[in-house]
Amino acid sequence: MFCTNCGKELADNALMCPACGAPTRKGPEIPADASDKDWLTTLLLCFFLGGFGIHSFYSGKPVIGVVQLLTLGGCGIWALIDFIMIICGSFRDGEGKVIVNKR
Ligand SMILES: [Zn+2]
Repeated sequence: MFCTNCGKELADNALMCPACGAPTRKGPEIPADASDKDWLTTLLLCFFLGGFGIHSFYSGKPVIGVVQLLTLGGCGIWALIDFIMIICGSFRDGEGKVIVNKR
């Protein structure tokens, strides 16, 4: 790959350009349809209160939240799946936007 700043050829695993010091953007990119919901908040809500669907209420999905509340997070399995999806950055909010870690 090549440096996006100065065009110098770089090793594929380089984290920054040795010539100009620009980062090579190898890290996870923030998708254009990223949600404005906070990723860490969603993660913590799911971890501590996932059985009550609180993370679904927070992310703008009250109907799913109520169902999770009534089923105790699908006996925990649903909440666990949501938790994994949040970690993977593939959990979506009520508008269909993906909630990702922007930090
Ligand atoms: Zn460079």
